[in-house]
Amino acid sequence: MVRLSFSSRLACAALLVAGLLSVVLQPPAAYAWGNEGHRLINRLATAALPADVPAFLRSQAAINEIEYLGPEPDRWRSPAEPELSAAQAPEHFIDMELADALGPLPRKRLDFEAKVFAANQRPEKIGLQPWETTEVWQRLKAALREYRHLQVAKQDTAPVEQAIIFYAGWLGHYVGDGSQPLHVTVQYNGWTGPNPNGYTTEHKIHWQFEGPFVGANLHDAEVKAKMTAPKAIDGDIFDSYVGYLRHSSTYVEKVYQLEKAGGFVGAGSAESRDFTAERLAAGASMLRDMIYTAWIESGKPVNDPYAGK
Ligand SMILES: [Zn+2]
Repeated sequence: MVRLSFSSRLACAALLVAGLLSVVLQPPAAYAWGNEGHRLINRLATAALPADVPAFLRSQAAINEIEYLGPEPDRWRSPAEPELSAAQAPEHFIDMELADALGPLPRKRLDFEAKVFAANQRPEKIGLQPWETTEVWQRLKAALREYRHLQVAKQDTAPVEQAIIFYAGWLGHYVGDGSQPLHVTVQYNGWTGPNPNGYTTEHKIHWQFEGPFVGANLHDAEVKAKMTAPKAIDGDIFDSYVGYLRHSSTYVEKVYQLEKAGGFVGAGSAESRDFTAERLAAGASMLRDMIYTAWIESGKPVNDPYAGK
């Protein structure tokens, strides 16, 4: 240990405080819902899983881990890991207007990327939200299928349970992002283009809404009260998820209207708190239903493409 004189220790303390302050005061770039919102969505979704989901996934230990993982993909955005950050940043959002301008959304990520490149554009400018979410959901489903196999074979399921919990928590991040209207639009951080209603053009609204406002004003009780009843998702998961994103996109202008009325300053208004609680609840309900659906779907027989060949 290096010993320091009193004055150099004082200088070190001052530097430390300045460093900490710069971390605390610096708003992260468009991360969606901040830590509090993501943790809340993952926590409420897991706590509301139906009773026919395996008990390990509904345990307090699973709830704690899945909650911790809510902000996990935001921890992959550090300049310390530049390749990872660049590759996964577009997975948090999709500018629906730009994606739709290229025609129907292909189901597979690489098909969409090929389409984007063919239009002389770049996927990281448009976003890859629905593809990432679908792929992580399928990882979860595959792990749940493995869990069922191990159970039937009377083998130890503890290792696959760890994987399942990780996939569920990871999934929760993107489903949470998808309920934030400013994650599905070109208007993601300040109004662009014709602006007859005089919405803010400053690059502040995104973080102001999802970060400090949520952290200071939204709690479990009011969000939980707005969650829907649990259900398995009928039909195709990609289509259902895109439908969920399109529903979020219907609230883009509402976020700007609330901001204009001062709804995201301090405690905001009853209307802005109510609106935000509903959006967080939409994320938590969708995540719960996607985990539940992955469990049900994992029990279905898999078509063997080589059968009869
Ligand atoms: Zn995100």
